[in-house]
Amino acid sequence: NAPLSEVDPEIAQVLDRELARQQTFLEMIASENFVPVSVLQSQGSVLTNKYAEGYPGRRYYGGCEEVDVAEELAIARAKELFGAEFANVQPHSGATANAAVLHAIARPGDTLLGLSLDQGGHLTHGMKINFSGRLYDIVAYGVNPETSTIDMDEVRRLAIEHKPKVIIAGWSAYPRTLDFAAFRAIADEVGALLWVDMAHFAGLVAAGLHPNPVPHAHVVSSTVHKTIGGPRSGFILTNDAEIAKKVNSAVFPGQQGGPLMHVIAAKATAFKIAGTPEFKERQERVLRGAAIIADRLSQQDVKDAGIAVRSGGTDVHLVLVDLRDAEIDGKQAEDLLHDIHITVNRNAVPNDPRPPMVTSGLRIGTPALATRGFGDAEFTEVADVIALALQPNADVDALRTRVDALAAAFPLYPDLQQ
Ligand code: PLP
Repeated sequence: NAPLSEVDPEIAQVLDRELARQQTFLEMIASENFVPVSVLQSQGSVLTNKYAEGYPGRRYYGGCEEVDVAEELAIARAKELFGAEFANVQPHSGATANAAVLHAIARPGDTLLGLSLDQGGHLTHGMKINFSGRLYDIVAYGVNPETSTIDMDEVRRLAIEHKPKVIIAGWSAYPRTLDFAAFRAIADEVGALLWVDMAHFAGLVAAGLHPNPVPHAHVVSSTVHKTIGGPRSGFILTNDAEIAKKVNSAVFPGQQGGPLMHVIAAKATAFKIAGTPEFKERQERVLRGAAIIADRLSQQDVKDAGIAVRSGGTDVHLVLVDLRDAEIDGKQAEDLLHDIHITVNRNAVPNDPRPPMVTSGLRIGTPALATRGFGDAEFTEVADVIALALQPNADVDALRTRVDALAAAFPLYPDLQQ
């Protein structure tokens, strides 16, 4: 039982350097966050040793009495947090949760209607070479090119024309809230099931700062590691007892073998934290931070550089930047921000004239910095740095100094030793 640094110094160095990277850079990838040390403890614990195929009280292995407690807590807390009657907390990731949802409510060859990947949807919503695109017949809706928002009349028109088995509402890159009641009305009109993938905005829902899809959808899937800020993993909710049974059997034995009990214990802790007033206050800073960034990137100096904020602002934890008329492309912008110690990702815009590895957009998110402690003042400073960085002839060294000062003022994992 020698320590990692002795057993495998190369991997120990990866851990050390990654900790240093996370401490040095400002993390603004919209899907990322920092888990609390309490979550790291469960994930690095002896629960990783345990096989527990099945569900609490109905396992195919002995010795599950302690892990049953962890899974029951995770289930009860997920149900309470989102007001759902049923929760499955076993999916290893958002993608496997989505595979299980489709396994439960559709058959290969059925038609699905979802937001297309290049307009903000997710791979698992029907991308051609993903399992979803290979097994199902996909019809995609997009966003209005003028407003960058989803046009519900268009969704309804496609639903009536194609009679999908499942309508998918949810996104990876979209800056506005969805009208879940309108999606449900369309689903009812054409006899479809409504599946909401709330992976990105689940933390905002938990805090009561975003509409809750659970009362409207037949089934809801999510990740735990984005706005919720828990361990990398997924879960599924529903209020429909029949769908609940199908989801349980789709996750196990349909999709997975043994659940990751160390991760499920960490999910329980993340859901507990997500029910606290401190979590709500943090999510408020997430939303204000995104609004501050959208505001700054809508100022005249930024507009003059050909840069626009898609949809004119944001209701959520991210801002989409349109660089189609700018000198700088998505790849250059991502690299330049990396140079000044800010991490973001480039992102295609609808009808992007540049190739997918370059793109004409950026996706900028605030959850990780809010977890780090950022409030209005810090988001105002970082928004100004980004606004100046994207303009021609940016003073990269001066901007990096400003970023480094922010990082130093909000130490991350100060007591953590890998
Ligand atoms: N669903 C949505 C909307 C997502 O944005 C993502 C992740 O990017 C996923 C599902 C998949 O999650 P994971 O990466 O855990 O498989």
